[in-house]
Amino acid sequence: MQKISLAIHGGAGTILKEDMTPELEAAYREGLQQALDAGYAVLENGGTSVTAVKAAVIHLEDNNLFNAGKGAVFTKKGVHELDAAIMSGKNLEAGAVAGVRNIRNPVELAEEVMLHSGHVFLSGKGANDFAIKQGIKLEPDEYFYSQYRYDQWREIRDSDLYQLDHKSDKLVGLMKDKKFGTVGAVACDSEGNIAAATSTGGMTNKRFGRIGDSPMIGSGTYANNKTCAISCTGHGEIFIRAVAAYDISCLMEYKNMSLKEACEEVVLKKLPAMHGDGGLIGIDAKGNVAMIFNSAGMYRGSKSSDSSNFVAIYGDNN
Ligand code: ASP
Repeated sequence: MQKISLAIHGGAGTILKEDMTPELEAAYREGLQQALDAGYAVLENGGTSVTAVKAAVIHLEDNNLFNAGKGAVFTKKGVHELDAAIMSGKNLEAGAVAGVRNIRNPVELAEEVMLHSGHVFLSGKGANDFAIKQGIKLEPDEYFYSQYRYDQWREIRDSDLYQLDHKSDKLVGLMKDKKFGTVGAVACDSEGNIAAATSTGGMTNKRFGRIGDSPMIGSGTYANNKTCAISCTGHGEIFIRAVAAYDISCLMEYKNMSLKEACEEVVLKKLPAMHGDGGLIGIDAKGNVAMIFNSAGMYRGSKSSDSSNFVAIYGDNN
């Protein structure tokens, strides 16, 4: 029988137990579990992998612990510019948005682009106009405000530093941080169709309309029934240059690697060689899941019809 599976991530990076309070850790775990349950319920009820990844990502976008939707980071101008993508492995249809504002669930808008725009990738004001035309849910600026994100931004807003979510004292070039808070999901449904979705606020203090890998089909998000569905999190510039998600698909298609081998090749060899910190989740059409990262931790979870349910934060499967 076809195995149904779902995997999610809530970002990778220097996530260490010593930086966490028990309450915060419990809140992260609960948020991950709720998103897993929401996506998995779709699959269990015979829904498609596209609907399942969307449901899981919406949960993470609505949770302000994660850097997507409600919890998105501040840009240099003190606003929130959101990126998201969704892709169906069944027919290679894809939709993506970049730099959109006031959209409650950017993943929903990405799906709308996929289904009803006649295009794949919309950006900025045009994407917002399309959202209004399609009746997508909007929220005022205050909805995206949190003291935590504001303080993160205040620390660096007068500098040229940018920061990949959360707090750290490491300075890496112009990057102040080594933590990534993007969210994503991959799923395999009862028909053996796979899909991927990714959503992010990008980097704190980003400017000049910066766009990361998350909404770029082939870099941060990709799905193809023949190979895999992938959602990435990490230093987007490097993932773009590595064309990370599509590279995993290529390694499977042209080199016959398994999902796990291909993910390890890219995350543990190719990306580190380019100083690309981060990780990703992947799934194949048999419902196998891989969750690989080269950072200290990654918020992650998976659930399958073989009755596995897994939620972890740190490097040691905890
Ligand atoms: N990859 C995302 C970006 O570069 C950041 C992240 O994963 O948190 O926009």
